[in-house]
Amino acid sequence: MATERTFSILKPDATKRNLTGAVNAVIEKAGLRIVGQRRIQMSQAQAETFYAIHKERPFFGELVTFMTSGPVVVQVLEGENAVAKYREVMGATNPAQAAEGTIRKTFSESVGENTVHGSDSVENAKIEIAQFFQDGDIVG
Ligand code: ADP
Ligand code: MG
Repeated sequence: MATERTFSILKPDATKRNLTGAVNAVIEKAGLRIVGQRRIQMSQAQAETFYAIHKERPFFGELVTFMTSGPVVVQVLEGENAVAKYREVMGATNPAQAAEGTIRKTFSESVGENTVHGSDSVENAKIEIAQFFQDGDIVG
């Protein structure tokens, strides 16, 4: 088992409904440590760059509009197998298919507005963290 870092976003539906503390409680209860955290308003350019891999998908425009519709909380999470662990804690992309007790099952209202982002690989985590954090802003 390796100590890893993953990148997380508490999406605008979380900040709008005042759920950031409730989601962080689930994250911490799962044994992940929040070693970097910042509340920001994402620009259209930042959202388009972040989700560039999905730019040909039919929901891309809707996704960028949603991600810039209000504040988000960007985070670096650290722990054993943090990337896979956080994906498990988040639950399936579509909350209707997410397992009981996951963040998306508990809090999310739709496949688009699904409360959290989590990196899908260690390699992507590094790229995503670097997009939003400088080394000095992460304290493990
Ligand atoms: P995940 O966030 O679970 O890694 P994806 O990488 O497949 O999921 O998609 C990125 C984000 O795009 C999702 O979290 C969700 O906000 C949005 N999204 C995915 N599929 C759809 C869809 N069918 N309709 C609307 N939005 C979607
Ligand atoms: Mg993804």
